[in-house]
Amino acid sequence: MATLQELQEKLRKPLERELLMGCQNRVVAGGLEKLLDNLGKPFPKVREVLRQYESLSVEEREQKLRLALELLTAPQKSETPPSRPTMKVSKEPEIVTPKNWQEDTLVEKIALSTQAVKKLHALGLRNLRDVLHNYPRKHEDRRALPNLYDIEDGQKITVAGVITGKNRRTPKPGMLILEAVVQNAYGHKVKCTWFQQPWIERSLKVGAHIIVTGRAKKFGRQIQLNVEYMEEDSESSLSTGRIVGVYDIKEGISQDFVRKTVHDVLTHTPVTDYLPGRILQEHGLINLPDALNGIHFPRDEVHLAKATDRLRFDEYLFLELRILLQGGENSLLGKRFSAKREDIDTFESSLPFRFTNAQRRVMQELASDMKSEKQMARLVQGDVGSGKTAVAACALYLATRDLYQGALMAPTEILAKQHYANLTRYLFPLGVRCCLLIGAMTAKEKRENLQRIATGEVDVVVGTQALIQEAVQFNNLGLAVIDEEHRFGVQQRRALLKDRPDVIVMSATPIPRSLALTLYGDLELSIIDELPPGRTPISTKLLHDSSRLQAYSFVMQQIREGRQAYAVTSLIEESETLTELLAATQLADNLKEILPEARIDLLHGKMSAQEKEEIMDRFRRHEFDLLVSTTVIEVGVDVPNSTVMVIENAERFGLAQLHQLRGRVGRGSNKSFCILVAGDASQKTRKRLKVIEDTTDGFKIAEADLKIRGPGELRGTRQSGIPDLQLGDLTSDADIIEQARNLAKRILAADPGLEKPQSQRLKLELRSRSAQVAIREVI
Ligand code: ADP
Ligand code: MG
Repeated sequence: MATLQELQEKLRKPLERELLMGCQNRVVAGGLEKLLDNLGKPFPKVREVLRQYESLSVEEREQKLRLALELLTAPQKSETPPSRPTMKVSKEPEIVTPKNWQEDTLVEKIALSTQAVKKLHALGLRNLRDVLHNYPRKHEDRRALPNLYDIEDGQKITVAGVITGKNRRTPKPGMLILEAVVQNAYGHKVKCTWFQQPWIERSLKVGAHIIVTGRAKKFGRQIQLNVEYMEEDSESSLSTGRIVGVYDIKEGISQDFVRKTVHDVLTHTPVTDYLPGRILQEHGLINLPDALNGIHFPRDEVHLAKATDRLRFDEYLFLELRILLQGGENSLLGKRFSAKREDIDTFESSLPFRFTNAQRRVMQELASDMKSEKQMARLVQGDVGSGKTAVAACALYLATRDLYQGALMAPTEILAKQHYANLTRYLFPLGVRCCLLIGAMTAKEKRENLQRIATGEVDVVVGTQALIQEAVQFNNLGLAVIDEEHRFGVQQRRALLKDRPDVIVMSATPIPRSLALTLYGDLELSIIDELPPGRTPISTKLLHDSSRLQAYSFVMQQIREGRQAYAVTSLIEESETLTELLAATQLADNLKEILPEARIDLLHGKMSAQEKEEIMDRFRRHEFDLLVSTTVIEVGVDVPNSTVMVIENAERFGLAQLHQLRGRVGRGSNKSFCILVAGDASQKTRKRLKVIEDTTDGFKIAEADLKIRGPGELRGTRQSGIPDLQLGDLTSDADIIEQARNLAKRILAADPGLEKPQSQRLKLELRSRSAQVAIREVI
């Protein structure tokens, strides 16, 4: 005769399975009620709850099932008279019964073996919340395993079955092939093979149940499976017959262990949502318990998709909350400018061109920030040549109209000089006094300029970032423009801000909006997504190494027409500056041989700033025709007469970098060309280079770059400050990120420190996440 406990188990299992399988009432032949009729006598309350189960909707079934399970697994309070009050102290008082599991309950406090606790710790899971939020790495559809005779050659399939035979072959020394015949429930057989995976051998026991996934090859009626993924089948309902989550595991930990643990925790831990229903509704999101169920044990693909949507949204929401709470800068008081319409008009009418629509829009965004008393912190993003500097100059002009000073800071001296030339051109006619401040100036010049800045004789200072921050005492700094060209990492942004000027950051890195929002979380974003009219797009061609000469004969043709050219070579290893130098020197020597008529000179990273300057000045004056260079040229070289660039070993460059390099030509009125020379490259690399060949739109290139590299590698961007996102894919989540960001702002506007009672749940979650995701500070 079965004990009550045994009966309880017999009932619990199918009920749980029913819940997992989406409450379709198919788990038990004849329906759940039949089962209850047979076994449920000792549990009248459970029977009561599940009455008329067949006639209920799926939602109602789910709800009732949960209740029934709770009644069933609760200590037999309701079913048996209250036991006599025992004074017996349990041997392990810290064990928490399922009834009392909470999200913050430590995994060692729930009844698990020490071994199991160790495993969870090895996966970085400390408490039940961690377990719930440890999402599967991917999902596999194991609902309907295909009829093996219907599959096509090359199709990816999953087979669950019993090993009926096995074999080990070493056709050549050092080559190991393991084979196993797996027979599924219908008696169909598949021959599975593993190449060079000796560790698999242990698991291949005749009679063992396994699940294998891989590509099928058909030989007549025989099917061979090249196994990509194998799991020992525990015959548990969690691992077959459904969409199954596959987790990141470690040696000695099975998928099934993780699944079972997650399932237990899901079943016994009450989860309350940290977002109110109103907000969920507004964003079309499902509630948290449903989402957690859906990510781990989805009913179907719709459930999985909805669960993923919800949890991904949360990832961004908490990320943005953290960024906003950390930054907080935007809410501080800054300068208030008049930023008058007519002053913008005055500036524009002094230009030899009209603003593009994009420039005009961005200018408006800047002006409205400047008018507000809040400190402006805005990122102006736009491709090289899109006219960011012109817009920044206008903003600086507005600042000077209110008798404030402005500063423009560049990452290098070359760029600072270039900006100085441009700003003077824009602003001098309007009576704005600019000065330059760079290391290469004499001490006397520097001293004089610093003096003039301190007394307010100078309106706008242009210089390198470091110099301006260290040496300059402003009379009345109102607006700082920081040009980051294509580097992120804005370490010094804050340091500069002691005068609390409004701040504009310019970036030429055409990163997708979503990435920008995340990287520059505490900046508002303005995008100049339009180039000034009349630019002829650079035409780009990808050539194989063997056609190098052809590339350079084209270069010679351009030189004969009076144009200039670049030849760029890459460094072989990041750190090997000498090798880089060698590569450039060899290229220069080689080109002098190939193109004896051309005047050729060399620029490389080992040169002093002054040497580089001199070479660039001579190139600008057209004292030679072809500049051979390492990638130092990437930053801010502006020689409009240069119309062709050859990039050697193009396969070694990233797309963003190639795009930047290419931006050095096409700066004048002549048609420009870029030739990518690549050696034998993988298909992936060729696909990458093809993107550069096909488009000059920096944003498209950046997105393609991220797509080709894939989200896997994208997660590697953690080093550059992107926190670990389990579900987030920055290449395609722009909309979600923006929604999450807006919601984060709304939440903080209503409760800036998350102090209100209704914010406590959210705050707790934020803390847990911050603890779990140890992110490097982004800024
Ligand atoms: P960025 O700073 O984005 O690289 P710049 O502001 O330096 O771009 O502009 C690049 C070049 O285009 C400059 O020579 C500038 O004078 C010119 N330019 C800027 N805006 C326009 C425009 N709206 N129409 C025509 N030329 C423009
Ligand atoms: Mg620029």
